[in-house]
Amino acid sequence: MIEATLKINIAALYNNAKYLIEKTNGGVIATVKNNAYNFGLEKVLHTFYNAGIRAFSTTSLKDSIYIRELYPNVMVFLLNPCEEFELLRKYKISCTLPSYDFLLKNKENMYDIYWHLEWAGIMRRSGCRSEEEFFQALEFASNNNINIDGIWTHFSYADEFDDKNTYLTEKSRWIDIQKKACSLCDFQYVHSQNSPSFARDGKLEGHTHIRPGIFLYGCMPYEIESTSEVYNKIQHVLDLTASVISIINLDLGESIGYCSSYVAEKDNTRLAVINIGYGDGLKRERIKNNIVEINGRRYELVSIMMSHTVAIVDNSVNVGDIARYYGKEIPVHEFTFRGVGSCSEQISYFNHNTLNVVYENIEYLGQVK
Ligand SMILES: *Cc1c(COP(=O)(O)O)cnc(C)c1O
Repeated sequence: MIEATLKINIAALYNNAKYLIEKTNGGVIATVKNNAYNFGLEKVLHTFYNAGIRAFSTTSLKDSIYIRELYPNVMVFLLNPCEEFELLRKYKISCTLPSYDFLLKNKENMYDIYWHLEWAGIMRRSGCRSEEEFFQALEFASNNNINIDGIWTHFSYADEFDDKNTYLTEKSRWIDIQKKACSLCDFQYVHSQNSPSFARDGKLEGHTHIRPGIFLYGCMPYEIESTSEVYNKIQHVLDLTASVISIINLDLGESIGYCSSYVAEKDNTRLAVINIGYGDGLKRERIKNNIVEINGRRYELVSIMMSHTVAIVDNSVNVGDIARYYGKEIPVHEFTFRGVGSCSEQISYFNHNTLNVVYENIEYLGQVK
């Protein structure tokens, strides 16, 4: 009987990094926020570095310092605004420049740091909100010896296909700004695209890098054609399994679970109880109209508890059989399309403290220092 097990395939992470590097002429800033999408920051960094990635972005200053301490020769980009100027200098962390006001307020302290000026677009988490502000900031920086090493934005509709095609509007607005800025200054880094934007457009003209997350981690950001190159080249990274620990037969009207969470609709309903639940990080939505794979066949899930789930099965399923919740044939993105939540959201919930976490093909980590 195996415990609920999360396998992380290092070879797939490596392959995905290699593929994106090849498609962008080396222009990949790997997004490793939130413990590398909950895959484990240290192992992910070693794998990506071994595959050839030399630029990383994250929202955490602590993680930025950690990356720098591992690798003296990479670009580390902090996506969030930060006023820890001494630390940014000491650890050579490139940092987002969120507004013209930030410059006015902090100009005395911003020397010897690499800044990437942000365009807010319609994301508006931070960044310049008008063209006027953007170019005022560029000019002010150049007059005050503040080094703007890059410009960037983050699209908020790249994985949406709304009637108004908002993505096209936000993209063309950014491209106007970007072209104008690039005609005035030389930047080492021009970047805007997450995974869905890259899937739609390839690396945009005038851009030095893409800034993918979820593609590196093996998931499709939206319903991409299964015949497309990217769909076939990106490899699923994770595999989540548990075991059937008991088989229960219910008659019509009998129930199982807290508060009779499932009531049998006919006699001789055969149920498998499986040793994984929401406490291990399965989202509750994962069981609604959803499925689990046992012995290569799919069965309907009907109940979820903290450490158990229940599926309706047939006579071929027995105690000890392996039940797969996510894997190559039952990928995370399938459940995104079924409304369970975005891929990153489903992955973020996995509880590494309760799951048996196994890294496979660790030779792809390379020479870990
Ligand atoms: C998370 C994030 C990304 C990566 O997005 P994916 O859709 O996972 O590729 C890129 N840029 C920023 C600013 C982010 O916050």
